[in-house]
Amino acid sequence: MKALIFDCDGVLVDTERDGHRVAFNRAFSQQGLKVEWSVELYGDLLAISGGKERMRHYFERRGWPSGVVEEGRDAFIRELHARKTDLFMRIIDSGELPLRSGVARIVDEAIGAGVQLAVCSTSNERSVNLIVEKLLGPHRTANFSEILAGDIVQHKKPDPEIYNLARERLGVSAQDCVVVEDNRNGLLAAKAAGMTCLVTTSAYSAEEDFSEADHVVAELGDPPDAMLTLSEIVCLSPPCSGRKANGTGNNQ
Ligand SMILES: [Mg+2]
Repeated sequence: MKALIFDCDGVLVDTERDGHRVAFNRAFSQQGLKVEWSVELYGDLLAISGGKERMRHYFERRGWPSGVVEEGRDAFIRELHARKTDLFMRIIDSGELPLRSGVARIVDEAIGAGVQLAVCSTSNERSVNLIVEKLLGPHRTANFSEILAGDIVQHKKPDPEIYNLARERLGVSAQDCVVVEDNRNGLLAAKAAGMTCLVTTSAYSAEEDFSEADHVVAELGDPPDAMLTLSEIVCLSPPCSGRKANGTGNNQ
């Protein structure tokens, strides 16, 4: 493993339920809309990647607010999403959402081992950068080779485009990359890029089908609770994984 690549939402921090969902609802309220995404409804909406796409999907099924003409829909979504992003940034900036357990520990181990680090997310670039800088801190952030986010690619996950771009930018082959994802769309993107994928499930994704994953855990975890070490993560990728499968190698 030469590169360890993290998804952002749901992997670095459990942003969906208590961050993004709350920010969407605050944006709807500020806009004077009588729309409230419950914890359960938001779980269904997460099948749509990307905040703008998610709102459009919702309004197309539940009806557009009165006063939003067809030609104005793009601008309406764009403005609402910008407002939501600002509100989300305030939630992150306030520090009320913590890193998921084990993330800082694994990042530190990877830095110590000379493994390249990257973040690949199809969420808004400003919020991804703020999460990384605010929650991982300046030292760890400086050790990330690439933070790819938002509209840097044309096709969002499950398309592998963002992972293919990361591989090119990092100058490594796909089989030298291990991706940490929390949901099925992300898993499919990583596997379609030919990479090893470790899934850390989140509240919304625990019931999804992860049969293509190389490994699934609830958390990376920190001592004294159950945890995954960097060596164990390395052993998910070739050639270590092949040796394990053949029963002829050691778990390093
Ligand atoms: Mg995610």
